[in-house]
Amino acid sequence: MQVAALASGSTGNATVISTPEGTLLYDAGLPQRTIVAQCKSLGIAMTEIRAVFVSHEHTDHITSAVSLARRYQIPIIATAGTLRALKIPAGVESLVISAGQRLQFGALSILPIGVSHDAQEPVGMSLTYGGRTITIATDLGDWDDALVAACRDAELVVIESNHEREHLMQCGYSATLKQRIASRTGHLDNVQAGTFLATVAADGKSRTAWLAHLSQEANTATVAVRSVTAVLKFHKCDTKYRSIIALPRQKTIVWGPPQRSQQLELWIE
Ligand SMILES: [Zn+2]
Ligand SMILES: [Zn+2]
Repeated sequence: MQVAALASGSTGNATVISTPEGTLLYDAGLPQRTIVAQCKSLGIAMTEIRAVFVSHEHTDHITSAVSLARRYQIPIIATAGTLRALKIPAGVESLVISAGQRLQFGALSILPIGVSHDAQEPVGMSLTYGGRTITIATDLGDWDDALVAACRDAELVVIESNHEREHLMQCGYSATLKQRIASRTGHLDNVQAGTFLATVAADGKSRTAWLAHLSQEANTATVAVRSVTAVLKFHKCDTKYRSIIALPRQKTIVWGPPQRSQQLELWIE
């Protein structure tokens, strides 16, 4: 299994999860041509993509979801609330999922995880293929035991680390927007993400962590990694993570072995 984050943050989110038995696009918050081009550079033909999983209906996650589903005749996998908000046109197939209910999609086992965010019915996802599991959760104002449990078997945990609380309070956003972002249905800050990763690490297993959906105004990759690492050190579990990488806004980051010959200038762990 290979995971490639194509973009992360409020300007667009898309992650490609490839297996020898099919590829899943997790969120499609980039223009279609960008996704097609980035997949091509990864050696992935669009015809290999079996579905578009949509975490929730906010623009930065759905830009080309419907157009890709229509063009490549693939289903959109989303909760009933997200599908309603997406207003799927006739001719586009959809697969309805519910938080906590596992879906077997070909060889991929998908577990949607409910998250606390100001959208209709937002979810994160745990995906298992060939005995390997990864978990992704962005756009959440709080985390719970179900999300921690979903990370138990995960070798890669992609968790939102949206802002540094102090930077958010000092940035130029309106008071209302700051309040929304910092709320329980907004976005996780670096300390919350660190505390979450420390809780996950309590089982002693070794993992990789990707910090996702960083705010342009109230965070930087350096600040996010530094804050999260400080929290992990405080909980004496920083060594449990093989690496902690803050996802850039628009640069492909790859986890896992290439699925086929890839001659790429990518960061491959
Ligand atoms: Zn978002
Ligand atoms: Zn959102």
